[in-house]
Amino acid sequence: MKPVIALVGRPNVGKSTLFNRLTKSRDAIVADFAGLTRDRHYGQGRQGSHEYIVIDTGGFEPDASKGIFKEMAKQTQQAVAEADVVVFVLDARAGLSGQDHEIGKYLRRLGKPTVLVANKAEGMKDGVKLSEFYELGLGEVMAVSAAHGQGIRDLVDLALGLLNLPEPEEDEQGEEDQKPVRLAVAGRPNAGKSTLINTWLGEERLVAFDMPGTTRDAISVPFERNGQKFELIDTAGLRRKGKVFEAIEKFSVVKTLQAIEEANVVLLLIDATQGVTDQDAHIAGYILESGRAVVLGINKWDAVDDYQRQLLERSIESRLSFLKFAPLHFISAQKRQGIEPLWKSIIQAHRAATCKMPTPVLTRLLMEAVQYQTPKKVGAYRPKMRYAHQGGMNPPVIVVHGNSLEHVTEAYKRFLEGRFRKEFNLVGTPLRIEMKTSH
Ligand code: GDP
Ligand code: GDP
Repeated sequence: MKPVIALVGRPNVGKSTLFNRLTKSRDAIVADFAGLTRDRHYGQGRQGSHEYIVIDTGGFEPDASKGIFKEMAKQTQQAVAEADVVVFVLDARAGLSGQDHEIGKYLRRLGKPTVLVANKAEGMKDGVKLSEFYELGLGEVMAVSAAHGQGIRDLVDLALGLLNLPEPEEDEQGEEDQKPVRLAVAGRPNAGKSTLINTWLGEERLVAFDMPGTTRDAISVPFERNGQKFELIDTAGLRRKGKVFEAIEKFSVVKTLQAIEEANVVLLLIDATQGVTDQDAHIAGYILESGRAVVLGINKWDAVDDYQRQLLERSIESRLSFLKFAPLHFISAQKRQGIEPLWKSIIQAHRAATCKMPTPVLTRLLMEAVQYQTPKKVGAYRPKMRYAHQGGMNPPVIVVHGNSLEHVTEAYKRFLEGRFRKEFNLVGTPLRIEMKTSH
């Protein structure tokens, strides 16, 4: 389970700037969907082998006169509550303010692992102004510059160091077949997650084992269905009721994000009566960014009329166009309609996400594609592709080797993607194509 870092501090100290530093996307793919990430407050980052989730509490504007507890937006309070470690951002140039004291008081009471950072410290002599921050009684202060990227690495080391994290496990490749399909059901509150999960867990053919997960507060339920092993990762507030599990509604963004990370396949449930909302698009964007396989379930199909159905199909096309690879199912969790095909898609998406693509086959496909359509010449350079191999699974990564590949256009990459997808029947999984050039 990825650790969660929350950034807090009064406005203008540089939280958003720091957030951008910490979440520097591993993959430019999100940038293609402007508007999707603009107001996101949750992001992911990685340092070395450690991955983490960052929450930016941009909306936090305490009014000292009213006291911090009243003013702290509910969302922010929840963010801090959900965090494993809090990074309290201060302004090294402005020095301590009354608001800083208020926030400091709150954090001291909270007693969560906290790192103090004095931002905007570029070009300042060490310790010049930092000493006053010790007044907060929250220990050492680190000088950083979010804008210039100074001290960020040490900050992450320190923040994660407070958590005594185990070294991440290596994924044993090759054992993927016998492993259960890790499945997460994501979606907004009220989308019908609990109803669907309860339907599943109540099915005769589905045997839930009496064994909750052990990692922090995560619960996962292993079960078997028609001989296929699954592990359901909780996003719906699963609770044990005697020997069985039941889902209760308790929406948590962090839990959803963590479950997505843990999963092989995410079933994204959308409430047909509400249409595709911003929050749906955000969750979808996060799933894509994480590289998980995804199946779309449009739930409550029983409760919408023909007109609403048309509107919905159009909004799926326009707002979730970046999930074109995901199979789409119209279901009713309540009336148990459309559930069986959903299982088929989930298994198919898992197979696609973990499929093996031998180098000779990839290289042959690449050569055929190049023969069909040669990459465009850019200036004096013509990209020359030589061979391809598989660079990863879930999501599948195809690494293309050759010369001048930095000049390969996005359009050409999409053309290649289409060819690879068709050959390996990659339904339900993102596919990443990387160019590795040798000059
Ligand atoms: P937030 O309100 O806490 O999210 O703060 P922002 O990230 O929006 O930053 C507020 C202002 O401080 C912006 O004008 C940033 O460009 C500036 N800023 C952020 N980090 C630094 C830094 O490391 N050094 C300097 N000099 N300015 C910074
Ligand atoms: P969750 O918050 O995503 O876990 O959503 P719930 O499973 O609690 O469902 C929210 C509400 O939608 C409940 O009142 C359910 O009875 C209702 N609901 C769930 N699935 C369906 C469905 O397929 N059709 C209709 N009409 N209502 C549904």
